[in-house]
Amino acid sequence: MNKGFETLAIHAGQEPDPLTGAVVPPIYATSTYKQDGVGGLRSGYEYSRSANPTRTALEECLAALEGGVRGLAFASGLAAEDTLLRTVCRPGDHVLIPDDAYGGTYRLFAKVFEQWGLSYDPVPLGDVDAVRAAMRPNTKVVWVETPTNPLLGIADISALAQVARDGGARLVVDNTFASPYLQQPLALGADVVVHSTTKYMGGHSDVVGGALIAAERGLGDELAYHQNAMGAVAGPFDAWLTLRGVKTLGVRMDRHCDNAERVVELLAAHPKVTAVLYPGLSEHPGHEVAAKQMKRFGGMVSFRVAGGEDAAVAVCDRAELFTLGESLGGVESLIEHPGRMTHASAAGSPLEVPADLVRLSVGIESVEDLLADLTRALDF
Ligand SMILES: *Cc1c(COP(=O)(O)O)cnc(C)c1O
Repeated sequence: MNKGFETLAIHAGQEPDPLTGAVVPPIYATSTYKQDGVGGLRSGYEYSRSANPTRTALEECLAALEGGVRGLAFASGLAAEDTLLRTVCRPGDHVLIPDDAYGGTYRLFAKVFEQWGLSYDPVPLGDVDAVRAAMRPNTKVVWVETPTNPLLGIADISALAQVARDGGARLVVDNTFASPYLQQPLALGADVVVHSTTKYMGGHSDVVGGALIAAERGLGDELAYHQNAMGAVAGPFDAWLTLRGVKTLGVRMDRHCDNAERVVELLAAHPKVTAVLYPGLSEHPGHEVAAKQMKRFGGMVSFRVAGGEDAAVAVCDRAELFTLGESLGGVESLIEHPGRMTHASAAGSPLEVPADLVRLSVGIESVEDLLADLTRALDF
């Protein structure tokens, strides 16, 4: 279906139900399917771990939005990551990960896959030469996040795809922060896109989920095999909620970006703010790369507060409309202190984050209200 992004978000994988004409794909709350004689499957459905029509609708939509050949929906972003790593890596392999990777991703490598015999090195993804130098003969994956969490670092996806290709490794891009509306890694040379659909894709903070989207058929089939063999699938209710959210991804992302730009403007001029981390700022070290590979710069904004950790914590506590909480990408604005919350598990590791850092997930509320809340939170 060669259609525009918003058309795909609303229609890809979502033909009206053949039985009733229902415009919205129903929640197929069933574990199994009647066979018309032994092995006589209707439309290939046999058992809902292997496939479920509600999940299929979401998976086809995700594949279309990322420009991939195969989409797979999982119970969470980390379940998707686990399935991906056990599909493409074997004990004894090596991977490169961002030196400010998402905390849960770091923990998966450091605490789970390390014991399984997979070694890893954190690298500064903004430095392509450093990534090339860190490649080893047994490096199987270069894991990219861009923008990164919570420091909003930018990695050049096409340059890193070349490094991975030259070294016989696969390039994986966690596209959770940007969403396919702002950035399409497969078109830039990535082999697989990972999502925590919990965030912008679902967009309403009401469902946890994950996804993998593969650029080519062979890997897509291997991932699908492992999805079924390992079993961490999205249930039909969760798939339905996620797909409902995905329909409005484009309009939500544009408003997230509009509001984030206004928030950045306010913070950049505020005397209590010592630094604003946002790839849309011309002084951001990754600005040019971000401008090349992203449509806009997203809804995530981090900033450092004069006065250190106590001041940063105070801002988080004082905010009201910005709800104090982990996660991101929902319609409601969230604020958090990465050092004590999302990234507490990285303390003492190479991924430790500055103590004076505050992270915002800028929502789509009326922007004047968001600006007023931040102004008040910073007035202590
Ligand atoms: C939340 C998140 C994950 C993990 O996804 P879950 O759905 O929480 O398992 C992975 N990567 C990034 C960038 C995230 O923000």
